[in-house]
Amino acid sequence: MSADIFLGHQGVIHRAGRALSNWIYLGGVKAFADGSLGSNSALLHEPYFDDPHNYGLQVLEFESLFNMTIASDMSGLQVAIHAIGDKANDLILDMYESVALKNGKRDRRFRIEHAQHLAPGTADRFGQQGIVASVQPDHLLDDADAAIRKLGVDRAQKGSYLFRSLLSSNALLALGSDWPVTSTYPLRAIRTAMTRIPPGWDTAWIPSERLSLNDALIAHTISAARACFLENEIGSLSTGKLADFVVLSSDSWDEFATVGSTSVNATYVGGIQAYP
Ligand SMILES: [Zn+2]
Repeated sequence: MSADIFLGHQGVIHRAGRALSNWIYLGGVKAFADGSLGSNSALLHEPYFDDPHNYGLQVLEFESLFNMTIASDMSGLQVAIHAIGDKANDLILDMYESVALKNGKRDRRFRIEHAQHLAPGTADRFGQQGIVASVQPDHLLDDADAAIRKLGVDRAQKGSYLFRSLLSSNALLALGSDWPVTSTYPLRAIRTAMTRIPPGWDTAWIPSERLSLNDALIAHTISAARACFLENEIGSLSTGKLADFVVLSSDSWDEFATVGSTSVNATYVGGIQAYP
């Protein structure tokens, strides 16, 4: 993400508006603070348990992240930054705080993408600063075993995928897929947020962080829409919005939550049947 790209985005928005078509909407820009846990490049406060001299990788210096965020925020673009490790998340929260102080108050909905591993107390900062926690439940299925190996049981247990804590901090919690890294199937992501049972496990990973069905549905619909400034167009079935909805194979949410065999019988987009 460079200044040229900002100007490029801004130019396109000026010429064409944010909605390039019914399917492509220019929301903002994404930058990277760190790498991933799987490759030992998520930026951590304490070293990796399985690699004791390694603290992970900071992709961009604070100064350049700050300058890019200032420029992009001033031009009206929403900023979303990928942060996986606990130190990366604190760094971006500090940076967002400084930008908000410098550019003044407005509805900017700064986002942190993934927010996977958080230091004690960091979940509360999302709510206090009004930062969107844009999280992908299905990542935890692959990450549970790796997190325990790389962070040790204690750190993994206290700080990983803190969905309920983020919600309790009054942060806007938006669920998504991070496609193509994981499946785009929303029903699976909603169930994962409710159950947190990784493959080969019999029990939930950090059960206190499971979401209720209602909270998971809200996070996957209206909150996700809000995280993109699209709550007036999508995210709920309401007058004046696009009628985007699915018809499920069961009318029992209990069956959905416990058996997980519920599937999609039909999909409507803008009120028109698109599937089957
Ligand atoms: Zn990412």
